[in-house]
Amino acid sequence: MKLVTFNRGEHTSVGVLIDGKRIVDVAAAISEARRDHSVLDVISAGPPGLNAVRQFVERDRGKSAHALADVKLLAPIPWPRKNVFCVGRNYKEHIIEGARARGVPVSFPKVPEFFSKPATTVIGPEAGIERHAKNTEKLDYEVELAVVIGKRIRDVTPADALAAVFGYTIVNDISARDAQAAHGQWFKGKSYDTFCPMGPCVVTADEFGDPSGHRLGLKVNGEVRQDSTTSDLLFSVADIISALAASTTLEPGDIISTGTPSGVALGMTPQKWLQVGDLVEAEVEGIGVLRNRIIP
Ligand code: MG
Repeated sequence: MKLVTFNRGEHTSVGVLIDGKRIVDVAAAISEARRDHSVLDVISAGPPGLNAVRQFVERDRGKSAHALADVKLLAPIPWPRKNVFCVGRNYKEHIIEGARARGVPVSFPKVPEFFSKPATTVIGPEAGIERHAKNTEKLDYEVELAVVIGKRIRDVTPADALAAVFGYTIVNDISARDAQAAHGQWFKGKSYDTFCPMGPCVVTADEFGDPSGHRLGLKVNGEVRQDSTTSDLLFSVADIISALAASTTLEPGDIISTGTPSGVALGMTPQKWLQVGDLVEAEVEGIGVLRNRIIP
């Protein structure tokens, strides 16, 4: 199933995307309360909640569906309970292009390198990415497969890690490269407001299948900049979860973005930084396309 968080009028709700262009509001399947909902409510309801949603959609047969054109999609988890976890340097060719751009020798990490982005960075599909001209001259993009955790876990082996995954979404890990370099770590340059476009949906783990072997790519104004496959991940999704969950509890709704392949502006000659008006389209096979424009 493809789950979305959407706005219709004043109301924010959780829905299931059917035949790619209609949404069935499923909030009633998991909650009696008349309040706003998001995909996080389905995740929090656990396997019984997901089953209830599935049965609701089957019974409904599209009768109550809204046209996708009549709603506004938000990030599936518009306000994560904690920072979005991220993995840096996790595709071989991206590590090589990064080292070349910085004029340092190529070295491959022995364990995943983690950092995070605060909840205030998260925006949804079609929302504007702020240019932040005052605080960066080097605005960059990074298409990434992101994992959404469904179970509370700690100290899991890679073999058991995938059982804790609720589903997958797309994150565009927007980066201010000059701030990233100047501050001596990645947090600051990755944490400006609007720097975490997410969506358009969360695809459940059963539908997405094996997280390796999915094509992912990114276009700027229609020009292909990134084109790779998740088979090229240095640390697999299972390895990442196992490493992050070592002595660190992961909870339902936690998001882990798994790193970006080569083709970022940093690695280009000349470097083509994002500018106001640019349309950025991040795509992961089996999830969809996440579209955002750069705004002043
Ligand atoms: Mg990244």
